[in-house]
Amino acid sequence: MRNGHVEVAVIGGGAAGLMCAMVAAARGRRVLVLERANRVGKKILMSGGGRCNFTNTGTGPENYLSANPHFCKSALARYTPWHFLELVERHRIAWHEKELGQLFCDESSKLIVRMLLDECAKVGVRIETECDITAVDVADDGRFCIDSRLGRTTAERLVVASGGLSIPSMGASGFGYELARQFGHEVLPTRAGLVPLTLSGKHLERLDGLSGVSLEVEASSGGASFRNAMLVTHRGISGPAILQVSSYWQPGDALRLDLLPGEDALALLQQWQRQRREAELRTLLSETMPRRFAQRLCEHWLQSRPMKQYTPAQLQQIADTLAAWPIVASGTEGYRTAEVTLGGVDTDGVSSSTFESRRVPGLHFIGEVLDVTGWLGGYNFQWAWASGHAAGQAV
Ligand SMILES: Cc1cc2nc3c(=O)[nH]c(=O)nc-3n(C[C@H](O)[C@H](O)[C@H](O)COP(=O)(O)OP(=O)(O)OC[C@H]3O[C@@H](n4cnc5c(N)ncnc54)[C@H](O)[C@@H]3O)c2cc1C
Repeated sequence: MRNGHVEVAVIGGGAAGLMCAMVAAARGRRVLVLERANRVGKKILMSGGGRCNFTNTGTGPENYLSANPHFCKSALARYTPWHFLELVERHRIAWHEKELGQLFCDESSKLIVRMLLDECAKVGVRIETECDITAVDVADDGRFCIDSRLGRTTAERLVVASGGLSIPSMGASGFGYELARQFGHEVLPTRAGLVPLTLSGKHLERLDGLSGVSLEVEASSGGASFRNAMLVTHRGISGPAILQVSSYWQPGDALRLDLLPGEDALALLQQWQRQRREAELRTLLSETMPRRFAQRLCEHWLQSRPMKQYTPAQLQQIADTLAAWPIVASGTEGYRTAEVTLGGVDTDGVSSSTFESRRVPGLHFIGEVLDVTGWLGGYNFQWAWASGHAAGQAV
């Protein structure tokens, strides 16, 4: 850096910012990363239970929510999970596939941060941590002026990679959205995604003491369905199926939870009535779901009797309850525990190939700050890598 001037300044040393910085510097650009936290990549470190679910081999545009579902296509096609995997293997990081194409580190997410830092160091990226930015402006010559504890830094290109609002204790801020608005960009309403749902009143009381119980469900809301585990928590419900559907659910929306996913509930009940006439419903349900959960269902939502005693209409009623458990979510746990932020900088104002602003030449937005949000399962990091890579090639 000469006289506080760089070619590319990147705000935010997270997944997208570090990828962008290393790609740009490898092309010979002088790059400075400004990170407000005391270290870069904090979300990478805490991700995937400390093992970082760094990509998903099944990544496609259909795994993302955005007001413009086409926006993510170009970058995802140009930088695929296989490109990132090649980088991981080059750094000899052992990995494994969990369910559904999700790739995790065998050892620790620290290795992913180490890999990104090594790549950045190799090509001379300068990284400054504990660097809160106080103001950004554009000078008459089109250069960006960035004020921070480093004094005034000028840059020909400014990349905003400051992420979303989730986990404020990790450095998350609304800074990227404010900057976008300052430069005339539209910011679509934000809300917490991939987040546990809360219950209240009788819905919560009826599950009292079941915290930690987990069962497979199919959770549906807002036109999306996910079949995976649901976990009862102290405040409501969580687990992969619930986290996934939370991104499609808004307060007041219907939430459908099928407690016998993949089963025709009525056919199963009729079969039990034919073949296990003396057995009680509670006992039979305990064979398909955790016993404590089945008992609770029968205390509050169903009446347990020997199967032979139910009329056809009653069997239908039970089947309906099992296929669409009538539970009403009151809200979400919010940004404190959310993995991602839905909404953000409107993609209409940004090029899908270079991630450059259509309003301010030289300004780029990448990663989660944009209105592109992935499902649970490595899709969010793949978006960070792909958008960071595309911008890194363009700046
Ligand atoms: C607990 C948790 C677990 C997760 N696990 C996974 C997972 O396993 N797989 C997956 O794909 N996704 C996971 N995610 C989501 C994933 O971490 C994010 O989608 C991804 O990190 C977004 O990358 P980003 O670079 O856009 O933002 P971030 O990684 O959030 O980086 C943004 C950076 O900008 C910095 N910053 C913010 N404001 C400023 C400012 N004013 N000045 C300077 N710097 C600033 C922040 O401190 C941060 O370092 C998880 C998220 C959480 C919270």
